[in-house]
Amino acid sequence: MDGFQTVAGIGQGPSHNHAHRIFQIGARHLAAQIGRDNARRGSSRHAIYGKRTYPLYLPHLPCPAVNQTQILGVLLGTAVGDALGLPYEGLSPQRARRLWGPPDRHRFWFGWGMVSDDTEHTVLVAQAFLAADGDATAFANHLGRGLRGWLLGLPAGIGGATLRAILKLWLGYPPTHSGVFSAGNGPAMRSGILGAIAADLPQLRALVRASTRTTHTDPRAEYGALTIALAVRHAGRGEVHGPTFHQDLAAHVSDGPWLAHIQQAVTSVTQGETTPQFLARQGWDRGVSGFVEHCIPVAVHIWLSHPQDYAAAVMTAIQCGGDTDSLAAMVGAMVGAAVGPTGIPEVWCQRLWEPMHSVAGLTHLAADLATGRQSPRPHWGTNLLGFGRNLCFLAIVLGHGLRRLAPPYA
Ligand SMILES: [Mg+2]
Repeated sequence: MDGFQTVAGIGQGPSHNHAHRIFQIGARHLAAQIGRDNARRGSSRHAIYGKRTYPLYLPHLPCPAVNQTQILGVLLGTAVGDALGLPYEGLSPQRARRLWGPPDRHRFWFGWGMVSDDTEHTVLVAQAFLAADGDATAFANHLGRGLRGWLLGLPAGIGGATLRAILKLWLGYPPTHSGVFSAGNGPAMRSGILGAIAADLPQLRALVRASTRTTHTDPRAEYGALTIALAVRHAGRGEVHGPTFHQDLAAHVSDGPWLAHIQQAVTSVTQGETTPQFLARQGWDRGVSGFVEHCIPVAVHIWLSHPQDYAAAVMTAIQCGGDTDSLAAMVGAMVGAAVGPTGIPEVWCQRLWEPMHSVAGLTHLAADLATGRQSPRPHWGTNLLGFGRNLCFLAIVLGHGLRRLAPPYA
């Protein structure tokens, strides 16, 4: 039995049809690409979906197929959370509610969603991991190259520290010296995927450090990135227990104040506090900032409160206000690792308007990560398509900016 069929068959019971349909979205495009690869490589196998047969090229599966499901859960969980949260970014919860209503559907562009830097950097991390074959130094070099290319596409949203670091990369600084002193959540928003793909904890730590230092040098940025990656690792293994998670984190992070921040979130959940109550007690009820000491404890709080309910977790994250897209992307990665693609509302996946990071593309990437296979380098036409996509994205972001000049103001 092909690995791909095994993956599609995981969601038995009530969610089976849902599972089947989500995989179908990606399967047709994936099969077409794989078919082209087969033609080049002269090898093929087949998987059957409904009445149709799709060629597959999955010669070796070093990881069990369930790992592919988990990886896709993280990638899709990140992308969908990012896209749902983007229209709400920078708004207070009160104004966001009056301006857009509840985050129960995509509201970026007439019912469609697009992703921002959170998903794009997650994909760059995944691609660097594949290209480096798990080696941290090579990984940092590939990530640095990926970030330099990403900036050329004129992204509409970019953190200040990340921008300065990429400019340093362009000036010739190596990734070990390109980071700037900042504790923004840039490294944390892209580290969730490492929790799903790193072979073991030493490799996870090395990759998180390499990824973080390419753009950020404040140690708290690395603590934040490691906290998210470790949470994804725990979530993927079905280990959702706050005190155990904190204990595990303490084995890797010795910084007392950081551990105290996470402990506050864990204790709050244990005592039955909701996330809005936790925010109010911390004085963050006007929105969560992109500073890691604020957003990471909140992300952990939401994950521990809704470990098996993707929709509730992501909607709670967006309703916190502030840096909603990054918070929803991080929470989406954690819960996505636990529930897999079948736990993510199907319509949220279908309404992702993304030529570059479509469900099909992310499915392909998850398959590559699970098998260690590297896709061929993208055709130059793909880069042109990406540039056109970014221009559309920028126009829509400017439209949102103009809309925010009008009432309601609070
Ligand atoms: Mg973003």
